[in-house]
Formats: sequence, C-alpha cells, structure tokens
Amino acid sequence: MTSADQEGSEAAFCISCGDSNPIADGKCIDCLREEVTVVRGPSGPVKLERCVHCGAIPVREHWDQPTSLVEAVEQSAIGSVLIPEALEGVDVRVVVREEDKKNYVVDVEVTGSYKGVTVEGEAPVRVQVKNVTCQACSRRHGGYYEAIVQVREKGDAEVSDERAGEIAVMIEEEVRRVGGLSGTQSYLLKAEARHGGYDYYFGTKPVAKNIAKRIKDRYGGSLTHSTTLAGEEDGQEVHRLTIAVRLPRVMKGSVIGYGDEIVEVYGRSGNRVLGRTVPEGAGRTIEERHLDRAVVLEPKRVDIVYAAQGEGQILDPESLDAVQVRLPEGVESGGQAWAVKHRERWVVLEAAAPRDDA
Ligand SMILES: [Zn+2]
Ligand SMILES: [Zn+2]
Repeated sequence: MTSADQEGSEAAFCISCGDSNPIADGKCIDCLREEVTVVRGPSGPVKLERCVHCGAIPVREHWDQPTSLVEAVEQSAIGSVLIPEALEGVDVRVVVREEDKKNYVVDVEVTGSYKGVTVEGEAPVRVQVKNVTCQACSRRHGGYYEAIVQVREKGDAEVSDERAGEIAVMIEEEVRRVGGLSGTQSYLLKAEARHGGYDYYFGTKPVAKNIAKRIKDRYGGSLTHSTTLAGEEDGQEVHRLTIAVRLPRVMKGSVIGYGDEIVEVYGRSGNRVLGRTVPEGAGRTIEERHLDRAVVLEPKRVDIVYAAQGEGQILDPESLDAVQVRLPEGVESGGQAWAVKHRERWVVLEAAAPRDDA
C-alpha cells in the first residue's frame, strides 16, 4: 500500500525521474534516497579537551573520567554529526583510526529508515585531542581543599598503624566511588600525622563526610563538625569543614578486661560491642555506656617456657616468673606468644610470629 495508490492518481511513475514504482510522496526509492543526507559531519575538526594529568574530559557541566580515550573520541565524533529527524530506527556505528596520540579520524556510519526506505550514509570526522588541565587537577596542584577529617583516639592513645592502614583503604574506596559519580574533585589532597592521629585533606566536603561516617560506622566513636571561613575564591567565600572523629577506646580487635573476664572484641552491633571471653570462648555483648568500666589491655610478647597439650608456662616479662597457663593451638615450647594480663591473671591470645630482628 502506497500513498500513490491511496490517492488513486495516475502516479504510477516517479514524479522526479519518471521511473515506475513510486513508493512515497510520488517518488521512487532512488529519488527518496537522494533527497536525504543520512549523516552530515562537521565542517572542521572536532576538538576534544582532555586533562593531561588525570585523563578527565569535560562532559556537560563537569569533568568526567572516560572509560578510555578511544571511547571519548568516539563520543565526541558521534556528538558532532547531524542526522535528520525524519530518520527512524537509527543505528550508528563508528570506526576509529588513530593517526597519532592526538589525531583521530572517526568514520560515523548511520543506517535508518526514511519514509519506509532503508538508507545509509557515512561521514568521516576528524577529532583532535587538546591537552588541558581540568579544574580538579588545577585545584589539587594549587593545594586546594574544602574539608579535613581529623582522626584521633579517645584519651591519649595513638592511632595504630593497623587502623591507619584500614582507614587508608576506606578513603581509597570512597574517593573512587564518589569520583566515579560526580567528577574528580573528590581527591585526597594529603594525609598528615598529627597529635597521635591523622589529618586527611579532601577536595570536597561530601567525600569527607562520607569517609567520617564510614569510620564511625566501623569503629564507633563520635563525630564533631565545625566550619571556618578560609578566604575567597572567584569572589565567593570558601568555608572549610573540619570533622573531628574520636575513635572509641574499645573496638573490633580490642582485648579488654571487663569485670574479672578478659574479652576479645570481634565486632559491633548498634551501640553494643560483641566479644568472646578468652580463653573460655563464651559470647559477650557489652553496651557502649558500660565500656567506661572496661580496661583496654595491651598484648605483650611473652616467651613460652614449655607447651604440651594445650597447657604450659610462660615467662612473665615483668617479674620473670614462670606462670602456668592454658595455651591456644600453634603455641610451642621455646616460641613466643601474645598475652595479656588482667587482675594478676595472664591469658595467652595466640602464637607470635618471630620478630624480624630476632
Ligand atoms: Zn525517481
Ligand atoms: Zn585532571
């Protein structure tokens, strides 16, 4: 069924060329194909700005990290061509030819349907990569930051290397996660050891807030926010956010004396810590508000005098007395173990790996 048939006119011939079989608007397939430009390339080369430091490219209002440079080249080529609106079922394919690291030719091939006729076309687009510095990198190189997360232990204790390492992993994950969503301004500018803890400087406030929250979710403790006016940038006041994170004394991995018992803490649930008594292995749940009564024990390296069938003697490192104790698996005569002392009672936690300097 064609419009020519519907009109019942004499147009059994193409109104343009006079051939038979007009199929739409009184025209034949060839003439219909001729009246449409399926794809039209830009008159000159397309410039693709790319940050020379981080590889980000501008996408609308912000900078984004492309999956690859070739993908960014393809996108900018596709974005530069014109395809008529009358085309339906449009399918776009690209073939990228790299001339050198900064010059590409992209063949944009388009197929579609025009007034019922399948049409296809191709436009070569030249893409030139232009090295620039993105806003995030220029800020970062200029030492710009919007927020500091200060991590400290409650009391006088120092943040352990182990905990600092765990926090570093959280920061890495969070910076990558947030950066993947909203550009690359969420960088960690620097980390400084201060007052027994660490100060982490961030490019944006949201990433600092997320990280502070993650640290609190993991270890418990408290957060305090404060804001200071840090100056002006481009005529706008810059307010810096400082989030003080106070880590609680008792957290996952702590060994505490609680009453007469010694409890190894393995996790938290809401405002409770979960633990197991050593050496008995009985489960214990202690509410946060009761933790003031807990004594955080510092594991000490002790010598094993002898070990046999889960029993043995250790050398008290202070008095040098041999003390009879239960021994966990893996502790051997002549070796060393980690042990804690609480209310005159020694408990061995686990075998200690030999010292590096031994
Ligand atoms: Zn014709
Ligand atoms: Zn950059």
